Amino acid sequence: MQTIGLIGGMSWESTVSYYQLLNREVKKRLGGLHSAKIVLVSVDFAEIEQLQHQGNWQQAGEILSQAAQSLEAAGADFFLICTNTMHRVADQVGASVSIPLLHIADATGIELVKLNINKIALIGTRFTMQQDFYKKRLAESFGIEVLVPAKEEQTLLHDIIYQELCLGKINDTSRQIYLQIMQKLTDKGAQGIILGCTEIGLLINQQATSCKLFDTTTIHALSAVTQALR
Ligand code: GLU
Repeated sequence: MQTIGLIGGMSWESTVSYYQLLNREVKKRLGGLHSAKIVLVSVDFAEIEQLQHQGNWQQAGEILSQAAQSLEAAGADFFLICTNTMHRVADQVGASVSIPLLHIADATGIELVKLNINKIALIGTRFTMQQDFYKKRLAESFGIEVLVPAKEEQTLLHDIIYQELCLGKINDTSRQIYLQIMQKLTDKGAQGIILGCTEIGLLINQQATSCKLFDTTTIHALSAVTQALR
């Protein structure tokens, strides 16, 4: 079994999910007392969040590059950045080490292609919904058209992520806001919804909606297990 490197802490609430998913999946596939071999570097999210909102992606990328180098030195065979948003600096971080990065949008794109999905909605932080790094990758590498919510809806989703979910606050009113926005995107023709922020799964699960959900935290973690056991 290969050792999985994780850059976590963005936020730590979702890193907990990764840790559980990885271990449960290895146990499920190998049985008995098996668990995942993991090396984790967990950053201080307050520093990262400040740099994101200042638009200082270069500096944020340097922090994550140092984390990736620590993972490599600690014996990770490959690594994950445990957040969608920080894939904004995936190229910079990936280039700083010689071990491969398992990109969250690629793991998600592979799942969508398997199900013949060619039009999907993406919800996440404003950075992920507005900037090109995620949508363009799905479009160019997988031929998938990506819909995003209207500007004012993006603000609602973004604020709930930073002011609630990343602080471990789960609020029913916010869940209803998410469900309504997701329904609108489905009505516009999206064949499913990418939960493109690793904390959204803490608020919404498949039982809560008839929209087909693609939870990037789960997809990314299961893809890492497949890679580690290959
Ligand atoms: N975990 C979130 C994501 O998947 C948001 C926190 C962050 O900005 O990294 O995008």
